[in-house]
Amino acid sequence: MGTPLGGAQRAQFFPDAKRLFSCPFFPSVKTFDDLGLVAPLLRGVKAQGYTHPTPIQEQAIPPLLAERDLLGCAQTGTGKTAAFALPILQHLHEDPTEGRRYIRCLVLTPTRELAAQIEEAFINYGRYVDVRHKVIFGGVNQNPQVAALRAGFDVLVATPGRLLDLEGQGHVDLSGVEFFVLDEADRMLDMGFIHDIRRVLKLLPEDRQNLLFSATMPDSIVTLAGGFLTNPLKVEVTPQSSTVEAVEQQVMFVSRGDKRHLLADILEGPTVTRSIVFTRTKHGANRLTQQLNKRGIEAAAIHGNKSQNARSRALDGFRAGSINVLVATDIAARGIDVDDVSHVFNFDIPHEPEVYVHRIGRTGRAGRAGIAITLCEGGDQGDDLRQIERLIGTEVPVVTDHQYHDESCIPPPGGSGGGGSRRGGGG
Ligand code: AMP
Repeated sequence: MGTPLGGAQRAQFFPDAKRLFSCPFFPSVKTFDDLGLVAPLLRGVKAQGYTHPTPIQEQAIPPLLAERDLLGCAQTGTGKTAAFALPILQHLHEDPTEGRRYIRCLVLTPTRELAAQIEEAFINYGRYVDVRHKVIFGGVNQNPQVAALRAGFDVLVATPGRLLDLEGQGHVDLSGVEFFVLDEADRMLDMGFIHDIRRVLKLLPEDRQNLLFSATMPDSIVTLAGGFLTNPLKVEVTPQSSTVEAVEQQVMFVSRGDKRHLLADILEGPTVTRSIVFTRTKHGANRLTQQLNKRGIEAAAIHGNKSQNARSRALDGFRAGSINVLVATDIAARGIDVDDVSHVFNFDIPHEPEVYVHRIGRTGRAGRAGIAITLCEGGDQGDDLRQIERLIGTEVPVVTDHQYHDESCIPPPGGSGGGGSRRGGGG
């Protein structure tokens, strides 16, 4: 499961969805003031520097304010978090709890990274309203979480395992939930959370507003959604294909050990003025940054383990031109909004083909030519390359005139995987 739907399939499962183009590529003409949001939330949004809603925000916020259920086919990077967080914050702000707070909104998400990001969104957008939230995930001491649950708050962002664990211990009461968000549903199912989801659903009261977001809409998600959404608004956000066309794409086949040398050689060339290099893992981003720095290349890493200060410093340097190369993981890169990126490098090929489209959309903005260079070491990454080519409907041109070209890294045409399984992302 997990492959993006083809046109016919999509029409079958998602017949009346509004198809939208995703955030960075297709800004809305509406402003946030047009969406019915109250002043303190508008202030929060403006404090984030957002001027226009993304398509999913424009489409989803008004119906969500009117208490509709929502089925959103959208991946991260589209602005979906604000699309659900803002209306929920507004409902909670307009109808505050009297007395002790209790969990009125549950956001269920597969990974701790995503949970932490969603919490951050609630903090940022909800800065000027009196709504309290808490994030709960496994792998850390449960005591502070239990203490917070005792004290009471309005919005709980949680991963399923720890949530059910604490619920089993009698620390979590979900009987007052009015808003339920199931985020990254396809990834949840891939990670084997279906039984946990069903258990959580049983703990919720009948009468509530439901939102489900998924990057893909395979049968299993459609069935799951049918089980608990009522007459949902369906919104589908797809990257605009012309973005792909505006970018000159290249792939270079190179062994894993030579990738960093090849990258450094290209970065030192005259045409690369400002570039973003994508790695799969935070550790990989750190290591590569150090290696580039050793070669005298001004590079900085940006990922979820960096403090907000370190991220801001790196971004400011990148904007100002003192840092020419940002080495980023996908999740961290979503916050990067810089024009004039001459090159995007896929140092590692993303597992999810849609992520490739998002990555290369970082260059070639505003009608300028951009170049996206993918370094392919074969193996798994070769399969991922073929999946990308299936998604974008064309083969990425191969460049062989470099000293590290390695024929053995070229995957068979069409790839050996074929199934399109989605493995968990690095973050
Ligand atoms: P999401 O898809 O919710 O994870 O958001 C992706 C990224 O887009 C995050 O870094 C957000 O801060 C950013 N973002 C969300 N909405 C907007 C907006 N209306 N304008 C500019 N950036 C946004």
